Amino acid sequence: MHCPFCGMQDTKVIDSRLVAEGASVRRRRECTDCKERFTTFETAELIMPRVIKTDGTREPFNEDKLRSGLHRALEKRPVSIEATEQAINNVKSSLRATGEREVTSQEIGALVMENLKALDKVAYIRFASVYRAFDDIREFGEEIARLND
Ligand SMILES: [Zn+2]
Repeated sequence: MHCPFCGMQDTKVIDSRLVAEGASVRRRRECTDCKERFTTFETAELIMPRVIKTDGTREPFNEDKLRSGLHRALEKRPVSIEATEQAINNVKSSLRATGEREVTSQEIGALVMENLKALDKVAYIRFASVYRAFDDIREFGEEIARLND
C-alpha cells in the first residue's frame, strides 16, 4: 500500500490484529521512507441489500453514510472507534441476515437504534430523535424515562 503522506510505494505492516470479533483486521503500517504511521482496516466486501428511501426511491447501501450517522450521534461520547465499527458490522450483518434484496431506510434506522441503545444512551436518544422523528415532546420524554428504568 502506498504511503498517504509522501506517496512512497513501500509501507510495512508493524502490527496486525483482529477487531470487531474477527470481522475485520486492523493494521498499523509504517512508511519505509518518511516513517509516518497510519492504520488500515480490512473487511470482507459482501453484497448488501439496496435501500428503499422514504420517498420510495432506491439507492445502494452506503456504509459511509451509516458511519457518519453513528459518529454524529456519538460525538463527544466515551465510545471507542472500535466499538463504533463493531456496531456498524452488527447492522450490516443483520441486514445481510434478512436475506432481502431491498430494505427500507426505517429498518436500517431501527437496527442502528438497537445497537446505539446498547452502546451509549445519550447517542441513542440523539439518533432516535432524528430517525424516529418523535411526534411530540411527551413521546420523547417517555423514551428517556424508559431508558432510565
Ligand atoms: Zn511516507
